[in-house]
Amino acid sequence: MTLKIAVIGAGPSGIYVAEGVKKKLPDTMVDFIERLPTPFGLVRFGVAPDHQGTKKVINQYEKFFDQEGIRLLGNVEVGKDISVQVLQEHYDAVVIANGAREDKKLGIPGEDLDGVYGSAAFVSWYNSHPDYKDLSPIPEHAKSAIVIGNGNVAIDVARILVKSAEEMADSDLADHTRIAIDNASISDVVIAGRRGPVEASFTPPELRELGKLEHALPVIEGAVIPDELPSHIDTSQPAGRIKGKVLDIFRSFTEMKRDGKDKTIHLQFLASPTAFLGEGKVEAVQFERMELNEDGKPTGTGELFDIPADLVVSAIGYYSQPLEGVPFDEQLGRYPNEEGLIKDNLYVVGWGKRGPSGTIPTNRPCSFKTSQIIMDQVIADPAKQGGAAIDKLLADKGSKVTTFTDWKAIDAVETKTETRQKIASVDEMLAAIEEAI
Ligand code: NAP
Repeated sequence: MTLKIAVIGAGPSGIYVAEGVKKKLPDTMVDFIERLPTPFGLVRFGVAPDHQGTKKVINQYEKFFDQEGIRLLGNVEVGKDISVQVLQEHYDAVVIANGAREDKKLGIPGEDLDGVYGSAAFVSWYNSHPDYKDLSPIPEHAKSAIVIGNGNVAIDVARILVKSAEEMADSDLADHTRIAIDNASISDVVIAGRRGPVEASFTPPELRELGKLEHALPVIEGAVIPDELPSHIDTSQPAGRIKGKVLDIFRSFTEMKRDGKDKTIHLQFLASPTAFLGEGKVEAVQFERMELNEDGKPTGTGELFDIPADLVVSAIGYYSQPLEGVPFDEQLGRYPNEEGLIKDNLYVVGWGKRGPSGTIPTNRPCSFKTSQIIMDQVIADPAKQGGAAIDKLLADKGSKVTTFTDWKAIDAVETKTETRQKIASVDEMLAAIEEAI
């Protein structure tokens, strides 16, 4: 019997869970229910616009969608146009693969001030996500910015803020973002971490990029870099070796010369934000100086200091969005699950399963594990009509469902120019589809 599976979200983790099942049960029919007419989720809206090499994974995803039994039901919002429960009734298995697109909050005074943004919003804005096209986060005369957090997203944000149009020439950065960055001309960016260089979550290739910027110099106080890794870090393990490389890169930054670079990225460690300060709009961030215990855990010293800023982006992690009728852990911001099983025939993969960590390739083995569990647990039920029933339900509601062929029409419009110009409005996407028919 043919398995019928609905995957909520057409990003990497959803594609990989379907790939895992299709590899072993090629007859399986998978419908991807996607809120936007565009597939590929995080690759389109999360990966930085100057990381075009990473985005090439889309070529593999396109081939995946071109095979028999795989459909995209775009422009359909689960929770609004159709419920999870209805999907569970009509498909043998339903997999939530909707990522984590809510910003984790710091919960400190002033977080609502103008000029303070979470990285989910900020990154979505510079990646032309339709929900954020009108955000306009960079004040016109902004000269300084603080990015809170010591992960790769913080690096992405800092880098995009200081790269020139020439450095971004091969990117798919939207015109509106380019104009906002150029109008402001931010020359000082502080990346602030609450712990030290050893505890930072940066990975070597991403950190190294900060040393290769044409107009910005990474500056780190040499004294904060320890001569050796602390004893609790095991350098025989890959994670320990990565830490060693990260420290070497920090050391290399201390030896760099300004060479005419007029912008600076300061790496500020042991600084935990305690308040955003300003009248109506952010003017500074107040930090408490931290110290670390032997295990690298931070504690406050009570010493407060301010760093001025015209813009603040908090890149401290993400939460998934709760869905009606689906158990949700508010504290962790994800769906409680066991290797992806939530309950009955409902599963989860990606950041909703394990939290917001890992690169795109991390999702493949993680989703494959859940594919195997689905195949072990789910038996095809001939009474379930899958896509046929859902198509009828959505048609009766008058939903304008888009297909993978429709996405190709959008893609054709976006790639008419040398570098992709993303369409940042759903209405314009639908118009592009109409025009192609
Ligand atoms: P991340 O790597 O988990 O980093 C989050 C940072 O926020 C950490 O430094 C964390 O500090 C800090 N933080 C959390 N809560 C905080 C608080 N209350 N106050 C101050 N700081 C706080 O997450 P991410 O940067 O969002 O990245 C998510 C995943 O995507 C990561 O696995 C990342 O590697 C991946 N990614 C990869 C790329 C790439 O490969 N090019 C690009 C972007 C993202 P503590 O450690 O002290 O908790």
